[in-house]
Amino acid sequence: MTVKAQIIDGKLLSAQIRAELAAKIAASGVCPVLAVVMVGNSEASRIYVRNKQKAALEVGIKCEIHTLPEDVTQEELQQFVRDLNQNKEINGIIIQQPLPKHLEVLPLLQLIDHKKDVDGFGPINLGLLMLRSPLAVVAATPKGILQMLKSTNVNLQGKHVVIIGRSNIVGKPLAQLLLNQDCTITVTHSKTKNLPQIVSKADIVVAACGCPNMVKSDWLQEGAIVIDVGINRSSEGKLCGDVDFDDAVSKASFISPVPGGVGPMTVAMLLENTYEAFCAQQG
Ligand code: NDP
Repeated sequence: MTVKAQIIDGKLLSAQIRAELAAKIAASGVCPVLAVVMVGNSEASRIYVRNKQKAALEVGIKCEIHTLPEDVTQEELQQFVRDLNQNKEINGIIIQQPLPKHLEVLPLLQLIDHKKDVDGFGPINLGLLMLRSPLAVVAATPKGILQMLKSTNVNLQGKHVVIIGRSNIVGKPLAQLLLNQDCTITVTHSKTKNLPQIVSKADIVVAACGCPNMVKSDWLQEGAIVIDVGINRSSEGKLCGDVDFDDAVSKASFISPVPGGVGPMTVAMLLENTYEAFCAQQG
């Protein structure tokens, strides 16, 4: 008989975290402020930003959206960020990506005050994470994935984690975060050879490569924990992850779905980071 995996319900977990956060913020009578900087008016970015704003308002965080024109210069954008850094009313700053092609993101990430860097993408927070400092603001998606893994109650120590994808916002910070949890990490990418074979050695697989339904059940060790970060459209136009869920569910012990998995957790962690930044700034 095929035993079906237990579902890691990111939607439910995120609702619980947001409810706890809302209660904490209401009890302390404060109102943290998150500034979202958006360049241009792409529909995808507008939808993401509006969702973040709605979720923020629901927990009692004010979310200001600053939309700059598509042709803003690098220097104008950097000056805008400097002003937000100086503004004592603002507790968190995020730059909505992707930016138009003429703008470079790295100088902006270097510029954001690390105490307001609630995405945790800047070099200081990445360095603090590497140094295992409790002061690190941890990027929302990796932080959410750790919460999802913890929700299984499986002891993470010594587990072999294979991460598919090495981006600065998911794969790399996640590798460090899970290394800090005493996992053994293999980070793979588009040039990795024999990927299915490497994945088959994993106790935990995190797929974050943007390849629709790529990971199949025959890649997995029996009972592996599978976290699917991907947000893709299948050839039929359906929202799907990087894991072939219907197939992998028969082999995994725990699996996260798309939608309703990592996505909602990322939003919850961004809000948590904003509240924590507010508290740290109040001393
Ligand atoms: P990037 O495009 O920045 O990085 C993708 C990574 O996957 C790269 O390291 C790339 O390798 C690797 N990769 C691509 N193809 C393959 C392949 N065939 N085999 C192995 N590795 C491969 O993407 P992101 O990290 O930003 O996002 C990854 C996915 O996660 C996307 O679907 C994105 O939409 C989703 N996402 C979801 C979030 C959520 O909250 N749920 C948050 C952020 C992202 P190389 O470095 O060699 O190019």
